[in-house]
Amino acid sequence: MRVQIPPRPPNRIDPMRLEAAVHRIRLGRNPRAAVIPSLAELAPFDVAGTETKVQVTLHTKVQDMIAEAGRYDADILIIGGGPAGYYGAIRAAQLGARTICVEKGPLGGVCLNVGCIPTKALLYCAETLDAIRHAGEFGIKVGEPKLDFMAMMARKDKIVSQLVSGIGGLFKKNKVTLIRGTAKLAGGNKVIVSADSGEQTLTARNILICTGAEPAVLRLPGFEIGENVWTSNEALEAKAIPKSLLVVGGGFIGLEFSYIYQRLGADVTVVELMPQILPAADTEMANELEKILARKGIKIHTGSSVVFAEDIPNGKRVHFKTPEGDKALDVERVIVAVGRVPQSAGLGLEDLGVKTDRGKILVNEHMQTNIPAIYAAGDVVGEPMLAHVAWAEGAVAVEHAMGRPSSIDYRAFPSGVYTWPELASVGMTEAQAKAKYRDILVGRFTFAHNGKAMGLGETQGLVKVISEPRYGEILGVHILGPNATDLITEAVIAIANEATIDELIGAIHPHPTLSEAVQEAAMDTRGEAIHK
Ligand code: NAD
Repeated sequence: MRVQIPPRPPNRIDPMRLEAAVHRIRLGRNPRAAVIPSLAELAPFDVAGTETKVQVTLHTKVQDMIAEAGRYDADILIIGGGPAGYYGAIRAAQLGARTICVEKGPLGGVCLNVGCIPTKALLYCAETLDAIRHAGEFGIKVGEPKLDFMAMMARKDKIVSQLVSGIGGLFKKNKVTLIRGTAKLAGGNKVIVSADSGEQTLTARNILICTGAEPAVLRLPGFEIGENVWTSNEALEAKAIPKSLLVVGGGFIGLEFSYIYQRLGADVTVVELMPQILPAADTEMANELEKILARKGIKIHTGSSVVFAEDIPNGKRVHFKTPEGDKALDVERVIVAVGRVPQSAGLGLEDLGVKTDRGKILVNEHMQTNIPAIYAAGDVVGEPMLAHVAWAEGAVAVEHAMGRPSSIDYRAFPSGVYTWPELASVGMTEAQAKAKYRDILVGRFTFAHNGKAMGLGETQGLVKVISEPRYGEILGVHILGPNATDLITEAVIAIANEATIDELIGAIHPHPTLSEAVQEAAMDTRGEAIHK
């Protein structure tokens, strides 16, 4: 059955509003602000000018768009309803595009269903358990808490389903048409969608591919995914907490699962190939996190590699090489977390000549492939594979398709590892900064000297700020500590807006807060931290 696609809404561009925009330009003000309550109304126009020369021109691309009205089933068709896809779909609809999103699974993709959200739901169960165990330190006496793992899993599932249905609601509110099925490009702006109910061909002026990534497999004997060897997907559907766990890969996923299961009672060993956990992170911060995790009881082998695994009753014997020699460990379960690979197979990209590199779709700064009508965003375009980066990429793609000069800027994207304490970063590591600038200034401030952290009982970790001495440019900020993933936002705004170290220092920070540690670390780049 063919899904009914709503007709193009009547042209909502109000001439009065345009006049108001022109007036604002004359006054030297932002034409898109205040007077224009809905950006969508102005989206198809380039409004620019100076006091002496005011132009309000219809963008040529938009002229084409209007001329082509009705020729296609949609202005933008998005394949995939994960962070890049659903965010892009809503943004496109805000800009007045008739938008279709094709999704074969639940909305929300990996992030909502088997990634960011369910892991965080479980993480806070583990943290609550930990807090209860340490209640005595706060003067509260409680007995040994009892753990109901299936109740934790049910709570996680409830949060996921609430958020997934929330996206369905946002689609309805924004009039995004959701089509269930598997999409394949068929050339000439056509997409074929296959579903149980049959096949249909849809046409769209622009197509945005947001098909995500899947866990990389370990092609070594005994590591086939099954009952005892899990990817993050299986680890989120566990029926019981394994007594012992070996995690291959000390990256984002490996560490988050190591942390959750260890806190819930598993004996956890991590085997990481590179000399440090989180190989892309600042080495000092990664090493500091490694020490904290080791103190909590997680055994970490860096510079080590698994060789093969053999079946034993109720588990696996894993053989691995470490700098200290060869080892074998019997564990109930193994989690393989050695990266993710873009999912672009089966989309028909080769037939159309869309350029890829080992599955990753190649795009320009507007998220446009070598075929101008086709865009791609999210994990399918490769690293950094982060949900918030996917959001930004999805928005850039549809804004550009709608005639805006939107482009992606990767200079200030934050990343965060949700262990406890968390590690969050933005900008360059110390090694990268040194390689680029030679002379750099590094400031540090530990949470042990922060009053709020002491009250929270969370004094482990530090903030590290890196700047260059000439202009005081902030090059990188790394936070290992409580709520680091929230605290990093001030550094993101500072770096994205090229704030200087003096501006960061000069901004009055609230007290008592954890954010003081960021300001103090910035002061410390000049050797002028107050509470150090
Ligand atoms: P990753 O690239 O972060 O880590 C994989 C790790 O496995 C690396 O440290 C690598 O050196 C190691 N490794 C590779 N082969 C190995 C081997 N044979 N033996 C031992 N170690 C080996 O990948 P991931 O943790 O699987 O995460 C995948 C993607 O998902 C990443 O791009 C990440 O950014 C994203 N992600 C982000 C978050 C977050 O933002 N909090 C959480 C989870 C995942």
